[in-house]
Amino acid sequence: MPELPEVEIVRRGLDRHVVGRTVAGVQTLHPRALRRHLAGPDDFAAALAGRTITGALRRGKYLWLPVGDDALLAHLGMSGQLLVGDPARPLSPHVRVRLTFTDRGPDLRFSDQRTFGHLSLSLGGAGLPAAIAHIAPDPLEAAFDLAAVSARLRSRHTGIKRALLDQSLVSGIGNIYADEALWRAQLHWARSASQLRPTAVVSLFAAVQEVFAEALTAGGTTFDTLYVDVNGQSGYFERSLAVYGRAGLPCRRCGTPVRRDPFMNRSAFSCPKCQPRPRVRT
Ligand SMILES: [Zn+2]
Repeated sequence: MPELPEVEIVRRGLDRHVVGRTVAGVQTLHPRALRRHLAGPDDFAAALAGRTITGALRRGKYLWLPVGDDALLAHLGMSGQLLVGDPARPLSPHVRVRLTFTDRGPDLRFSDQRTFGHLSLSLGGAGLPAAIAHIAPDPLEAAFDLAAVSARLRSRHTGIKRALLDQSLVSGIGNIYADEALWRAQLHWARSASQLRPTAVVSLFAAVQEVFAEALTAGGTTFDTLYVDVNGQSGYFERSLAVYGRAGLPCRRCGTPVRRDPFMNRSAFSCPKCQPRPRVRT
């Protein structure tokens, strides 16, 4: 599943390759991709034809392309890709929606093997689509307010990892990046958010921004190609993970074997020495 840095890489690709261009037509190959556009595929196509894309924006894992006052809103789901390329190239069976442009240049294809992703038109959504207004800013956005988010995080009587994954508090942090950031900040995932010192919260968000920045750098090599892809996860995933997916392997800081605990039907990876488990209070 693409995490926030991969979605940001897609946004940058869209910014480079489709902003400033005018939509000629929309071809819907699989209506499920437009299930959130309740007025249906014909309305979607009619609403976009002739409109010029004026930006490529993101909040959390949602992307939107303003067209006038409205916006084309996209979520990649588990396996979605937005691909820009030669309009004459073969159409893969996973392409759900295709946008062509009046300049007859590269087209934009929404490909989604598992069909959890979706596109829709957000009326009046150029600034911020209403459907995603409840999602908190993410740590890569200029609107991210570290002091305010830290205070809200410390008001939660819940484990720190659960708080990091709460999209109404801070968006875009998934399981992998939460574990990596907690390792860097040397905090155990079960520590109570409300009992963290303010300085510990600040270093935790600094760690989140660091791992995101490194992932963006690792994924940045594809920027110059005429291809926007999130399916091939950035090289960061294989090369630089400190704890995630490394149960039993030595901690990159102290050599202690990494521990895997069950966590919300998934896993939490941590170093037992660098990230000591909180004492249970009696
Ligand atoms: Zn360690």
